[in-house]
Amino acid sequence: MTDFKIPQRGAHNPSSQRAGTTPGSFANAPDIGGPLTFSSPDTPGMPQPSEKTAWDFMPEDWHFEDGRWRPPAGFSPITQLEHARLGIVTLEMERVAEREPHLSAEQVRDEVGAGRMIIPANRVHLGYDLDPMCIGRAGLTKINANMGASPVSSGTEEEVEKLRWAERWGADTVMDLSTGGDLDATREAIIRNARMPIGTVPIYSMIIGRSIEELTLDVILETLRHQARQGVDYFTVHAGVAREHLPFIRKRLIGVVSRGGSLLAKWMLHHSDENPMYTHFEAICDVLREYDVSFSLGDGLRPGGLADATDEAQLGELDRLGELTERAWRKGCQVMVEGPGHVPFDQIEYNMKLQRQRCHGAPFYVLGPLVTDVFPGYDHITSAIGATSAGYHGAAMLCYVTPKEHLGLPKREDVKQGCIAYKIAAHASDVALGIPGTRDWDDDLTRARAALNWEKHFDLAFDSDTARAFHDEDLDVDTDFCAMCGHDWCSVRISKEIVEFESGKASGFERERVMKSPALTEEQQEILRTRGHLSPVEIHRLAGKTKNAVGDAEKAACHSDIVRNETDAFRVQGEKLLQLRRKGNEGAPRA
Ligand code: SF4
Repeated sequence: MTDFKIPQRGAHNPSSQRAGTTPGSFANAPDIGGPLTFSSPDTPGMPQPSEKTAWDFMPEDWHFEDGRWRPPAGFSPITQLEHARLGIVTLEMERVAEREPHLSAEQVRDEVGAGRMIIPANRVHLGYDLDPMCIGRAGLTKINANMGASPVSSGTEEEVEKLRWAERWGADTVMDLSTGGDLDATREAIIRNARMPIGTVPIYSMIIGRSIEELTLDVILETLRHQARQGVDYFTVHAGVAREHLPFIRKRLIGVVSRGGSLLAKWMLHHSDENPMYTHFEAICDVLREYDVSFSLGDGLRPGGLADATDEAQLGELDRLGELTERAWRKGCQVMVEGPGHVPFDQIEYNMKLQRQRCHGAPFYVLGPLVTDVFPGYDHITSAIGATSAGYHGAAMLCYVTPKEHLGLPKREDVKQGCIAYKIAAHASDVALGIPGTRDWDDDLTRARAALNWEKHFDLAFDSDTARAFHDEDLDVDTDFCAMCGHDWCSVRISKEIVEFESGKASGFERERVMKSPALTEEQQEILRTRGHLSPVEIHRLAGKTKNAVGDAEKAACHSDIVRNETDAFRVQGEKLLQLRRKGNEGAPRA
């Protein structure tokens, strides 16, 4: 027998049942109500969490009496943070608890009160169709999808269509980053159609019809007020970019890659003055508080390549973001903080844990990060790798990157690919962190897979259409093997046949006897057309098939549900494996 020491640290088993044989998560024990919430074990040398929370940065005119904080006379709470400070559980907190089954409404309130969680819910948007959600490391990892018209591509209708598409593919929030077309109409249409929170970067609107050098405090505040009145749920505000950081940019390989950061750098150099978003931050807070718009404190100096990661400019800005977090909390505003960008894999944990320390546990919202720069066209993959690590080490929301990143404006299919890559990253992080119940979905799919129950397998798949289409591209019958290994080499079938194993025998997951799979839907046909491996005639045949039983009902001597012997097995493969028949040996079963 082996004698391994399993490095478990007390995290819950992420499955709600003790399913399978894994010892469970290797993450730290949950610490809801404490600074760690769900967390990874520290690699030696990592920054420790801050001992402070939002409770240490109360408004000057509040006082502590009889064990609780009291506001000045006549005070009326507006933001979720202010309600939490008064011990009130709001309807939005109750809804969040429903959507996060491992948390109670009181725990949600306490996390919001500590500043470790936000509920981005503009009071205007709540009057439309917003379904409140939370962002915080005590909750499930969230993903954001960016969209928006540019001066050269897309329009309002297309952006609303992309919004629905992003919602379908699991985006928890959407940022409208439009810089072209009718910005106001697009934003209005997106907010009115969105059930999820909408974020914007208001500086984009501030420079429509004027140069950045002409930006004034009045323009800043009026733009913020206008977008807050429209119902935007969170604003990216690049208040952390400071004059003192600019000398550190000079030797970067790729300067300032944030649009907001580069514009404000230009403003500061032109006016020889400090960033107005920093100087007038309290006035900005007043506007956000009035509508409960959450801050997303922008990382204007995030690195744009591995060579510039974790440098003085980036970390200097992070320090300022910590200070701004404290200032926003004092004004009663909800805060999350944005992060990089492009970061080598080995530096991700440090970046996450440094933010947790400097910003006192305020939720971290990261873009990727990309872990290599040399795969343009595939940056949804390079960044999802970094995002998985970021989520595990502390990020609360992952901003998707699409295959079009660095190359052009994402289209519908890019939005889908970006969302899926990030749903993978978020879910993988949650399972690794041991968030209770997060592995149940995986376990059910494993049971269906082990039972060779294809219909259930595809029903449980995140993208059922693609899974079904890929399967039927080779084999139009839901038999007890697939085209990857073929009958004789199907280890799942063989495991299922071993009576001593539980594999494939879970109750409720039994497969029916072999069936022709259902006719392909239009969407599944389109997937196969795009792939281009099957002829239109073959796709037409798959679209017309009906769900009939094939083969014999009785169990065969070789323990297969479909064939009596080896000869029959090869006959079925020969008849049903469309691709193998068409293309000779290409894609033949693996030995
Ligand atoms: S043939 Fe191979 S890939 Fe297909 S179900 Fe069996 S073991 Fe899995």
